[in-house]
Amino acid sequence: MDAAGRFVVSFLDGVHDAPANGPELPARAAEEFGTPPAEHAGRFDELLATFGDAGRYALETAGPRFFAYIPTGGLPSAAIAELLARAVNRQTALAWAAPGLVAMEEGVLRWLCAEFGLPAGSGGVITTGASMGTLSAVVAARHHHLGQAFGDGTVYVTEHTHFCVAKAARIAGIAPENMRVVPTTRDLRMDVAAAARVIAADRAAGRRPFLIVGTAGSTATGTVDPLPDIAALARREDLWLHVDAAYGGFFQLTERGRDRLAGIASADSITLDPHKSLFQPHGTGVLLVRDPGALRAAHVDEAPYLHDLGTTDVPPNYGDLGAELTREFRGLRLWLPLHLHGVAAFRDALDEKLDLAAHAYDELRRVPEVHLPLRPELSTVVFRHVAGDEATRRLLDRINSSGRVLLSSTSLDGHTVIRMCVLSHRSHAEHVDEALDVIRRCVTRVPTAPAGRPRTRSGGRTRQGE
Ligand SMILES: *Cc1c(COP(=O)(O)O)cnc(C)c1O
Repeated sequence: MDAAGRFVVSFLDGVHDAPANGPELPARAAEEFGTPPAEHAGRFDELLATFGDAGRYALETAGPRFFAYIPTGGLPSAAIAELLARAVNRQTALAWAAPGLVAMEEGVLRWLCAEFGLPAGSGGVITTGASMGTLSAVVAARHHHLGQAFGDGTVYVTEHTHFCVAKAARIAGIAPENMRVVPTTRDLRMDVAAAARVIAADRAAGRRPFLIVGTAGSTATGTVDPLPDIAALARREDLWLHVDAAYGGFFQLTERGRDRLAGIASADSITLDPHKSLFQPHGTGVLLVRDPGALRAAHVDEAPYLHDLGTTDVPPNYGDLGAELTREFRGLRLWLPLHLHGVAAFRDALDEKLDLAAHAYDELRRVPEVHLPLRPELSTVVFRHVAGDEATRRLLDRINSSGRVLLSSTSLDGHTVIRMCVLSHRSHAEHVDEALDVIRRCVTRVPTAPAGRPRTRSGGRTRQGE
């Protein structure tokens, strides 16, 4: 335990100045790291050294200059919570087995429901990420509106909706041809009037619209859909409204964020990713639902080998609210940092990210070679080289091969754009300013005529999202 503690302290001391991107993993090393366990006992110091070494071949996602994809912080207090929860190792699928711990987890969920303006009686479940929460939400929507005969049920998204929604729908048995990609307006938001027309056409053809998805902070640009208008449409059409707030959700803790996310309180379900905008370690998502009964009805089951278990109606059985049965005490990961640092610390940190993104936008507007198609709504700034896509890609390669910062790209209106997403709790003004310096330095050196482009580890990683 002491050696592991020393390792963690030394890692955290070094992470502030670590390179943004580790070395390429040599094939020989991959073989060595993948050695199967031996019959004889190993030595902890050697095994810890192997872990430390293997971890170096990686994007420095924990570092302060990671602005690619959606940065995920990883609060040390959450890691300590994890150690405690795992060592005590309670089962929290069935509240009866550890009602005190489930009550702690419920306290966090109740606080979240209140922050998002969901009514008394709402609830949720802590998942491993937004994709798993989305799957449960889609299954609940399908079960609630369509029952078992759902072959003609249709779903409404836009091209900027995260692909986890289409994936969840596919897994939930919704045919890909029943997914409707509604047009967006010029500012990348769902065109709600167009959505109404598509829904009417589907009804006229005998299909059964049941689910519409609004995004509160798109992965690519942080754009927020017009949630009040989508909510009004959902009410009129009797659709389940799911809001994907995996990236943007926790900005709700700030005054500016609440303004931008207005309307989210009308959702039937909301997915959040504490491992993004609440600085938690990877593997922490949340699904909030207006009616936990609908979530339970879609997932609950029983078996004779569970008959000896006691029952308790409050707090809920998380095993009834999703695909998982056995689950760790996930709640401590949120509970400890929130209670230890206080909610205000999170509000302040998120306000700081909004300020930093606005600052980056203002500074980049002064660079003549750079075009910024959008003002950031949350903490993501997108820009491209005025000389075109090839120059933009070369600029990104140059920025990333600096080894100091890491940015990523996406495609917008058929053009390549570079994304800078400020979200780690470790990213402060000095790190954003360093990134801006790197961008300014690289932009003047980008040849705008075709030439050989340097390859970097991130060169091939142009996929949207994480
Ligand atoms: C990251 C993200 C997801 C997927 O969440 P996971 O936690 O990676 O499963 C869904 N929606 C949005 C908007 C995201 O940014």
